[in-house]
Amino acid sequence: MASRIYFDHSATTPLDPRVRAAMEPYLDGAYGNPSSLHREGREARGAVEKARAQVAALLGAEPSEIIFTASGTEADNLALVGANRAAGGGHHLITSTFEHAAVLETCHFLERAGTQVTYLPVDRDGLVDLGSLLNTLRADTRLVSVMTANNVVGTLQPIAELAHIVRAHGALFHTDAVQAVGKVPIDVNELGVDLLSLSAHKLHGPKGVGALYVRQGVKLDPVVFGGGQERGLRSATENVAGIVGLGAATALAREELAEEAARLAAWRVRILESLRETIPHAYLIGHPVKRLPGHLCLGFAGQEEGMLKLLRALDEAGVAASSGSACSSSHAGATEKVLEAMGFDAQQARGLLRVTLGRFNTEDEVNRFLQILPQAVASLAPVRNEVSYAISK
Ligand code: PLP
Repeated sequence: MASRIYFDHSATTPLDPRVRAAMEPYLDGAYGNPSSLHREGREARGAVEKARAQVAALLGAEPSEIIFTASGTEADNLALVGANRAAGGGHHLITSTFEHAAVLETCHFLERAGTQVTYLPVDRDGLVDLGSLLNTLRADTRLVSVMTANNVVGTLQPIAELAHIVRAHGALFHTDAVQAVGKVPIDVNELGVDLLSLSAHKLHGPKGVGALYVRQGVKLDPVVFGGGQERGLRSATENVAGIVGLGAATALAREELAEEAARLAAWRVRILESLRETIPHAYLIGHPVKRLPGHLCLGFAGQEEGMLKLLRALDEAGVAASSGSACSSSHAGATEKVLEAMGFDAQQARGLLRVTLGRFNTEDEVNRFLQILPQAVASLAPVRNEVSYAISK
């Protein structure tokens, strides 16, 4: 039997065996607490600091600017709540309508606590409009948060331009780069961001560990209180093995990103070209070019209601794909909200197929997928005649 095809890398990625090998000593023998002064503690501290330098190197940051957290979600929470509290609460915050729940829910929490939040619209491709940002900035705007890459549709935002506008205005700029780090080049100084969130499990590292880049001089208050680890910004005994895994994953990404991104982008283009022939009513959602290399978000005109059936058919045929954000399965409607924010109607918003490629996929898997998908789509209810979209992008 053919092996399964994992095409859901935006949900999570398999642990790279090289990352696992780097972590193993810290799951077993090297169990010291990095805050302890004895040899075991010093060994753990050394491993944590090496990982900090590895993460910083991928981002073009200083090691002292990296704060380890328990997830991308926690990094987002620390950025938004921490910056808000450090500024004395209240004030004005700007984000976009189609952020991940880790940002949106944090904004809702801050709204309940008295902060005014403006949600910037996005266009049909999922891009935030620079003009609407300019119109929305106020004298009391303290922070703007716009994600680098959207998890559902794959669109990449013009982060450098957005950050430039925001910092010229005197506010802080945060980006949730959880989907982008390790997939596209990120340099915090070229982008000009103040705060940036990432998560290990999206770049072939372990689950349950993330980091927040905090530009030197940016003031944050903690959201977790305790023993004062991580410069007092994230108390708790460090997850040494997880942090080592994140460090190893970023070191691998630094070496392999360019080659990997080119390979995945070429497959993405090949898949789209093939689908133009085999499923003419399929269309691409998200920006045609400004998107994550291995990320495809597809709609099938007139067949949107059949998406769960399609996912089941693909699963049975050996393909793991998704209907949107895995992080939102307990968060009904989050995926739909992303599409509706882009101007798709409710029916289209319910019917997307997300196919996200990753490091260990092969040419053979791409070929098999190109056989399987048209058959699975053909098994759905027939296309309504009056609807016609094409893969124009
Ligand atoms: N932000 C984005 C854009 C994501 O896609 C995700 C997870 O899918 C998160 C934040 C949350 O990261 P974590 O799963 O590490 O909490």
